[in-house]
Amino acid sequence: MRKIIIAIDGYSSSGKSTMARDLASRIGYVYVDSGAMYRAVTLYALRNGMIKEGQLDAAALVKALPDVEIAFNAAGEDGRQHTLLNGEDVEKEIRSMEVSGMVSPVAAVPEVRHRLTDLQRSFGRERGIVMDGRDIGSTVFPDAEMKVFVDASPEVRADRRCKELAEKGEPTDYAAVLANIKERDYIDTHRKESPLVKADDAHLLDNDHMTIPEQMSWLLDLYQKISNGSN
Ligand code: C5P
Repeated sequence: MRKIIIAIDGYSSSGKSTMARDLASRIGYVYVDSGAMYRAVTLYALRNGMIKEGQLDAAALVKALPDVEIAFNAAGEDGRQHTLLNGEDVEKEIRSMEVSGMVSPVAAVPEVRHRLTDLQRSFGRERGIVMDGRDIGSTVFPDAEMKVFVDASPEVRADRRCKELAEKGEPTDYAAVLANIKERDYIDTHRKESPLVKADDAHLLDNDHMTIPEQMSWLLDLYQKISNGSN
């Protein structure tokens, strides 16, 4: 069966990462979480004093970009691949509310997007990849054979995110999580550089009322059809 590129885009906390990771492991593809890369750059900016009182010093970040190395290591103890920032495993730190609160302004900086887009394209050279994000089907891999756009209401997404945080033993505040999701939706859909948009040829997956197994069978059906050349 020929190897293809699968792009899964959509709103924050719509379950994209879980389904992209599961799909990749079911079909033996490499999974790449592009949001983790924007989160790692945000962590770098926070740690290096480029974000003060919620204000990003974009010029300082752009200047420092050549010193920011992002990579993924093989699966850690939890069976998942971890994000590395200049060689350090930052998988836990990049999921904090502090990073979530600043990642969209960082991701709106054109130079940050160009750098990460190049890196993302290098991962797809051999195809056989599932990548999730906001602009994978529209900008990073406009020629991806399978494009999926995931949507769910902000309330359902906030509920899922709170459950995820609670499972990790982190404090959850539904109102703050919902506000963060709505704010990120706004910035992600309104930025000038590759805004979050459904590519014309993407298949819409509205998962408000779908279970994880239902989503997986929807994805596998689509994958079979596309890789057999019948879609
Ligand atoms: O997917 P996740 O929620 O971890 O992504 C974090 C943030 O990174 C998003 O809110 C968005 O601002 C940014 N992002 C992006 N383009 C991508 C992936 C993520 O702008 N391809």
